[in-house]
Amino acid sequence: MSKSSSLQTRLLHAGKSPAYSGGIAVNQPVVRASTVLFANTAEQREMRSRRGSERIFSYGARGTPTTFALEDVLSELEGAWRTRLFPTGLAAIGMTLLAYLKPGDHFLMADSVYEPARALAQGFLKQHGIACTFFAADGLDLQAKWQDNTKLVYVECPGSLVYEMCDLLAISAYAHTRGALVVADNTWGSGVQYQPLQLGADVSLLAATKYLSGHSDVMMGAVSTKQACWSALNECCDAFGMTVSPDDAWLVMRGVRSMAARLQMHERHAMEIANWLQARPEVPTVFCPALPEHPGHELWKRDCSGTNGLISFELTPGTDDATVDRLIDGLTLFGIGASWGGYESLVTVAHMNKARTVSDWSKRGPVVRLHIGLEDPADLIADLETGFARLQA
Ligand SMILES: *Cc1c(COP(=O)(O)O)cnc(C)c1O
Repeated sequence: MSKSSSLQTRLLHAGKSPAYSGGIAVNQPVVRASTVLFANTAEQREMRSRRGSERIFSYGARGTPTTFALEDVLSELEGAWRTRLFPTGLAAIGMTLLAYLKPGDHFLMADSVYEPARALAQGFLKQHGIACTFFAADGLDLQAKWQDNTKLVYVECPGSLVYEMCDLLAISAYAHTRGALVVADNTWGSGVQYQPLQLGADVSLLAATKYLSGHSDVMMGAVSTKQACWSALNECCDAFGMTVSPDDAWLVMRGVRSMAARLQMHERHAMEIANWLQARPEVPTVFCPALPEHPGHELWKRDCSGTNGLISFELTPGTDDATVDRLIDGLTLFGIGASWGGYESLVTVAHMNKARTVSDWSKRGPVVRLHIGLEDPADLIADLETGFARLQA
């Protein structure tokens, strides 16, 4: 840049070369970009010709060095070929189903899935000619529900709200003999405590909104695949312009660095509270796959390397809504809210009659879902004790 340029021009072009020499920072810089510049037209042509098959920094919508770094962390966690990032976990689910299914196809979805995934199958996908049948959360009716045009099996294990387990090894083996893909929602496992790709799934997706971010301040989804099904997903993402902000990617990266340590603490606290809840006379069932009483406990022992901060409990059948509200509304350490995976404790009512269609919850009591945070569990138990005292009021 020449000193003879006007101030207006110099303001735009100053400070573009690296501003420092010396060592390197521990963390990735945030690279914010829409436009990416090339040295000459030949380089631009070459980069454009390679970017379909290779990960090349060529335009902000296809990712930046900051988002690529996070993709690599996810691929490492999941044991995947590659990973794409999405603005939310739900966007990751939607794009995955659109990438692998077309009008006229049928897919099987587990009864245990996150409710908005169920709504997507029953609404938008159905309207666009993609049919879905729900199968039992344990997967035992999978073969009976198979159709000639079944192209994909979608599981969530452990399931949302009550953490049902399925035998993913067996489901994947069967689906593959029928030429179908297996997709798993791995939000519960965070890529740490459950490894769908190692258990035969072809695609593992998760809401990085939860434990990866870990601080309840960022939304993000991720889809990690084996090599054979990468290009269909990648092309669909590019066709729809799926991308995430590098600032958000940086925040998730910061969360990931402490995730393993946080998860161990969430697990320890949740188990303490689960054991305490099991001794309460008002609670017929505590849902947590790490409890020996849980129907999926043997599969959890085989397939999971731990549990997290999620536990749910059933109240005595017949307990009415106003009584459940009394228990929850006076809690001071549990925020009333959905989502989970932050450092803080949360409580919400799980409406199982709406959340499941294959299994029958009509005879069961109300279910309350807790996310146990990093607070001292003794304080959380004292808070819950006041809640149970209010039940008698
Ligand atoms: C929260 C959640 C999602 C969706 O994530 P968002 O980022 O909130 O869209 C998907 N699957 C499961 C199992 C979840 O718990």
